[in-house]
Amino acid sequence: MFKTVTFKSFLFAIWAIILTNIFLHQFGNFTISNAFFISIILVAGIILLFRTIRKKMMSRRIISSGIKGKKTAALTFDDGPYSPYTEQILDLLKEKNVKATFFVLGYHAERNPEIIKRIVSEGHQLGNHSYTHLNFKKITREKVIEEINTTNKILFEITGQNIKIMRPPYGGKNLNVLDTIENLGFKVVLWSAAGQDWANHGVNKTVEKTLREFKDGGIILLHDGDSLEPKEPREQTIEITKTLIDRLTAEGYSFLTIDELLALN
Ligand SMILES: [Zn+2]
Repeated sequence: MFKTVTFKSFLFAIWAIILTNIFLHQFGNFTISNAFFISIILVAGIILLFRTIRKKMMSRRIISSGIKGKKTAALTFDDGPYSPYTEQILDLLKEKNVKATFFVLGYHAERNPEIIKRIVSEGHQLGNHSYTHLNFKKITREKVIEEINTTNKILFEITGQNIKIMRPPYGGKNLNVLDTIENLGFKVVLWSAAGQDWANHGVNKTVEKTLREFKDGGIILLHDGDSLEPKEPREQTIEITKTLIDRLTAEGYSFLTIDELLALN
């Protein structure tokens, strides 16, 4: 679907350039080569403006951080539950007395209901991260709805909670995806700081990258899981989480769930 859209946009741009070219040449008294040059500049400018406006419109509807000026941070964990790593992260959070938010996959939630129950009973927040981790930009609206609803039904059966925050897999979004998620009554939550912990590039490197991106109210992206068939270990994520908690706590930051962060806004 994405490739088709890109190809259509390309064809549209070519047509726009040709038409502008003809217009400028016929009515604007420009030579063909000048008209062609101006057409490219005009069309490129309009496309750039359109993309910027669209991006701005989207970012207004997405939560990617809390308010600035408050020393708060939100740790978020995606793609789980994934045993034993999710439990080890829960142990660490308990030891540090930190609350976090877990954007879980319905597929893993239904196979690990005890971990889901533990996440909730220990005061953390649950978020919907779809059922099978498909890119919402590449699937039909109906499939997006099915992915979200299936997961929420599973989470409701396990916890009795009706989850209202959603993080689309890969952060994949466009205006249609946002409309679909919001029409189901969800807030879309992305992130503002990410060190790519999922790639296991090393604890220090990941911590430093995360902290470089981090600002007050930052939502930090981490992964307790590893997509549908988990293979990669998450020991590094546990160490990264520990270091981030220690470093940010030392700087006076407190850790909030997404709902707590939103309550401050
Ligand atoms: Zn994910």
